[in-house]
Amino acid sequence: MTSLDDLPLRPELRGRTPYGAPQVPATHRLNTNENPHPLPDELLADLGTALGHAALELNRYPDRDALDLRADLAAYLSRTAGTQVEQPQVWAANGSNEVLQQILQAFGGAGRTALGFTPSYSMHPIISAGTGTGWVDGHRRADFTIDAAAAVAQVREVAPDVVFVTSPNNPTGTAVPLETIEELYAATSGMVVVDEAYAEFARTGTPSALTLVPGRPRLIVSRTMSKAFGMAGLRLGYLAADAAVVDALQLVRLPYHLSSLTQAAARAALAHTDALLATVDAVRAQRDRIVAELPAMGLTSVPSDANFVLFGRFADAPAAWQALLDRGVLVRDVGLPGWLRVTAGTAAETDAFLTALGEVVRDQR
Ligand code: PMP
Repeated sequence: MTSLDDLPLRPELRGRTPYGAPQVPATHRLNTNENPHPLPDELLADLGTALGHAALELNRYPDRDALDLRADLAAYLSRTAGTQVEQPQVWAANGSNEVLQQILQAFGGAGRTALGFTPSYSMHPIISAGTGTGWVDGHRRADFTIDAAAAVAQVREVAPDVVFVTSPNNPTGTAVPLETIEELYAATSGMVVVDEAYAEFARTGTPSALTLVPGRPRLIVSRTMSKAFGMAGLRLGYLAADAAVVDALQLVRLPYHLSSLTQAAARAALAHTDALLATVDAVRAQRDRIVAELPAMGLTSVPSDANFVLFGRFADAPAAWQALLDRGVLVRDVGLPGWLRVTAGTAAETDAFLTALGEVVRDQR
């Protein structure tokens, strides 16, 4: 058997393991922050029609610039994010992971550095490695909030080319105040990427960093249809920024990267935005219910603006993870000692999770 060590692999990739939650079978899969609510019937019908039309043209390459889709995304952001966003300011790719990769291809790369405040989305350092970008861990407080003064000092000292701010943060659910983002922007001459994959789940009054984009050409806000829109299988991520940033990304994107089927499906889904986002309130209610139930079990959680909850503290989090799995509930061990992360989904899933967790806590005593 050939091993990776037998191949002329780039040295910085040696010894690494691929990203990914364990895909183990479980009755309740609460480990990847998907939206478990089924797509509305009227959307499913429209998807069939839209994909049928797109299929008639599959002998042709797709719209390379995805102009109609970007216009629809700009309209969605303008309607919901408290600021006007125009089509030339929006870019889309196969999941926000690809958006982030294109950002690092354009603004990171060999000899350049990215900084992100860990623990955060683990793909940020992985995509950095994949694009040859150096990585620096930014500091957080013990409660997982970002100390703005300390963060600014670290950014000044490291002078990264790209600063990642995940808000709400994965895996902690922590929202980052806009003032902190403004201060970080002012402290760097590099790009600032605010990863807002979970923005739609934020508690009311938590504003989007999109409102900071006007007048800040180095600020990028990335979003996705994988979470609140409930379309993780579609693979559609996007960003809003100054139009010049979109011009920069055109230099690194592969031609025709977004298939015509993806573009058609995403547009059909966006035409049903209100019906799709109708589940967001229900998911938020389950998140808040999980948070409210934990103290009675002697557990705690990190305040969450996302569709998941980081909960603990366990003497042995991997053992608690396994005990939950033994009861059919798959959560995520993100490698933070004492903590586990659970996705908030349907009421029935929350019931199953809380029942299983109660048993696990009792058994561990
Ligand atoms: N950003 C964050 C913070 C995430 O948690 C995720 C998904 N886990 C992504 C980006 C990527 O999502 P996608 O590629 O599905 O858009």
